[in-house]
Amino acid sequence: MQLLPIDAFIAHLRASIQAAFGNAEELRLGTSRFGHPIPAFKIPGQSRRAVFLGFSHPNEPLGELILEAVVREAIDRYSPNQRACWYLVPVWDLDGARENEAWWSGIVTVERMIDHWYRPAPSEQVEWTFPLDYGDVRFDQPKPETEAVQRLLDVVQPEVLMSLHNSVFPGAYTLISPQGASLAPRISETLCTHGLRPLSPCPIPYVETYADGVFGLPHARLEIDYLRKLDPRGSLSFYDNGAASFDYVGSSCLSFVMELPLFDWASHPDDGHLRRRDLGARHLAAWEQLWEDLEAAFADEDLAQSDDPLLSSPRYFYQRRDADRATIRHRLAKVLRSLDPVQSVDWENYMADLLTIATQYSQLHRGGGPVLPTAMNVRQELGQLARDRLCVLDPATIYDAGRTLVGLVLNEIR
Ligand SMILES: [Zn+2]
Repeated sequence: MQLLPIDAFIAHLRASIQAAFGNAEELRLGTSRFGHPIPAFKIPGQSRRAVFLGFSHPNEPLGELILEAVVREAIDRYSPNQRACWYLVPVWDLDGARENEAWWSGIVTVERMIDHWYRPAPSEQVEWTFPLDYGDVRFDQPKPETEAVQRLLDVVQPEVLMSLHNSVFPGAYTLISPQGASLAPRISETLCTHGLRPLSPCPIPYVETYADGVFGLPHARLEIDYLRKLDPRGSLSFYDNGAASFDYVGSSCLSFVMELPLFDWASHPDDGHLRRRDLGARHLAAWEQLWEDLEAAFADEDLAQSDDPLLSSPRYFYQRRDADRATIRHRLAKVLRSLDPVQSVDWENYMADLLTIATQYSQLHRGGGPVLPTAMNVRQELGQLARDRLCVLDPATIYDAGRTLVGLVLNEIR
């Protein structure tokens, strides 16, 4: 898989929309943190008002393929008698996506991903800085990119909102509002038909499960309630992000989030006598090592005070380490007691967490922090696991699955 650098992608999408809809309008929604205009394309002749947000997270490039599929779907559904429009925001987090583009505009490997990864803390993410006022948690400092999309949502009042995210490792899933729950069996089946494995159980502990690979939306209030229940006496002062786009549009809009993966399993090497509890112990130890290294790194005043954007995520993991320790211990409790042979879900979870850990080390180092031997080891271990077990998915699979899912959801409100 090789995707386009950001400017080339926007130019490509603009050209396909102009070729199909000569009367499509291009809007300027606002200006990014670094002063770049954020474009949106307005496609006429549709039966429902819909908004599609690409690059809701700057490190999630599969939106490029899905938005191409959305344009194809718009062409098929076009009728001059229909009054509604679709709005495509090709790259919502423009500056952040440019920071990442080096890893997907060449051949995608886990090592390249780690070396060029940029994903800010939730309080700096365009998707998670909508206004929030819930209990004693309050957030009212949206990013300029968030405000730009907020204005678009206010004007359009969409009936459908698709915020395009993606996962990395095998296991595909989607998140949908309650009014789309009846679609769950068909969504799950669509994932299977395209050779994608619907993820189960749900990786987010506080949302509903509608079917394998189809879950409820992770509303901010659900996470806050969950964290309170987990640690009733603990402080939520580390919870400093806002709400998401699907919180902002409210319950009358059908919101849909796709988390299709970049990789699939290529093979499952024989793990010998490795037991679930042994991999679980390695898993927990990797987190403990990260927390220890972050504590040591942020003891340095200069690093602690630095406003380098690359440090926002490692700092976030440092600040919420006590809550994360409770969550991860809870998540691994059963595995840590199991004498059964290791299962593929254990590898899925372990590799996903190793990527989170490796990318914290990478951002810490590029943001001015120390070079740590553990960082090299984690990068090497994950790189080797990926070479042994994974292959990159064919872009056509993502395009086809994405298009079918977009079609299903849009038909639901016809
Ligand atoms: Zn995402």
